[in-house]
Amino acid sequence: MTTPPSGLLLVVSSPSGAGKTTLCRRLLSEHPELQFSVSYTTRPPRSGERDGIDYHFVSDATFDAMVQQGAFAEWNWVHARRYGTSLSAVQKALASGCKILLDIDYQGATRILEVFAASARLVFILPPSLAVLEARLRGRATDSAEVIATRLRKARDELAHYPMYHYLVLNRDLLVGYEELRAIYQVELAHAEGRSPTPIDTALAKSCLGSERSALAERILLGGDA
Ligand code: ADP
Ligand code: 5GP
Repeated sequence: MTTPPSGLLLVVSSPSGAGKTTLCRRLLSEHPELQFSVSYTTRPPRSGERDGIDYHFVSDATFDAMVQQGAFAEWNWVHARRYGTSLSAVQKALASGCKILLDIDYQGATRILEVFAASARLVFILPPSLAVLEARLRGRATDSAEVIATRLRKARDELAHYPMYHYLVLNRDLLVGYEELRAIYQVELAHAEGRSPTPIDTALAKSCLGSERSALAERILLGGDA
């Protein structure tokens, strides 16, 4: 009897502006078997965001009711709004061996690791420096000056949680950052499916292990360049 493939929860976090959405969108577009976990949020949609695709945009009252019903695998306040991951959606996907990408903050990642330790692999996207992070947030032009200031204040706090992540991707050059994320996914996908990953992917993913990259993360935290 063959063992059915196990599910995989690829959890990706970063300080806002580090490039997580850009990298994750590309990974999802090139790997149709990888499903995006659509979170629930009480924040209003940004221009171009679609309900049910980018997020389930819900009212405070609906979010309250879902919390009461125990509908979330994890939920948290992020930038003064609430965000949560559907418990039933994750359970259903894992039971059928699906591979899921979760774009959630470090608080949510901590909880997912506690609840789904066997299936969760945590990836943190690092900007090359806090100065570059600020420039990217301003360049994205999706948030008000006030929201950008809040996100920058929180960036250091978010970065400080890098040690709990299995992998650290450095997003300086987009192509290099993407190659790292892709290799990590390929290695973890192969493990979930009981196959051996390619030596090239194995070597690249290994170079992104938290144990290999902590000095680099510390330099960024201290205000320097990776
Ligand atoms: P996040 O989802 O982490 O908040 P985004 O993916 O929205 O970040 O990226 C923030 C901004 O930085 C966007 O305008 C994006 O196009 C840009 N960006 C992302 N990665 C890079 C990169 N490696 N080099 C230059 N600009 C980038
Ligand atoms: P944004 O408002 O920029 O889409 O997301 C803000 C932050 O909320 C990001 O760090 C994102 O990863 C996080 N986030 C999105 N969905 C969830 C979720 O379901 N749970 C948690 N804990 N964080 C989330």
